[in-house]
Amino acid sequence: MHEVDMTRALLLAMERWKEGHAPQQPQVGRVHLEVGAFTCVEPEQLRHTWGVAIRTTWLEGADLAIEPVALVGRCLGCQATYSPEAARGYRSPCCDHPMEEIVRGRELRIRSVDYHLPELPLAPEPLGLTPHRAAAAASASIPTFSTP
Ligand SMILES: [Zn+2]
Repeated sequence: MHEVDMTRALLLAMERWKEGHAPQQPQVGRVHLEVGAFTCVEPEQLRHTWGVAIRTTWLEGADLAIEPVALVGRCLGCQATYSPEAARGYRSPCCDHPMEEIVRGRELRIRSVDYHLPELPLAPEPLGLTPHRAAAAASASIPTFSTP
């Protein structure tokens, strides 16, 4: 099933991302995902398989925020970009050219991750010289991976 493969790819990407933080283990609150219209991923289905897959893992409880990316094609007749419609057979409205180039809508990309890094135990420091150690809450970008 499509969404199962997508979830597997996502989990792999998240594993690699986590390794970049070793020895700390980030606690992930939310993963922001861009999903192209042409990936044929059903957001609800993906959310469901994700929820099942992360149970009892380090990602347990992490929410998946899915941001759809509309399909954009390029007309090879005149180089214009257009919004392909299934009703038109995805042909360009300007030249009635078949869709041969997709500009956007094929991506499955982790746009950012909301996470928190638990602090490691620190050596005692002299009073008054303690640096400000706010809990690290940040958003990170993760390299793109495309659907085949
Ligand atoms: Zn055209």
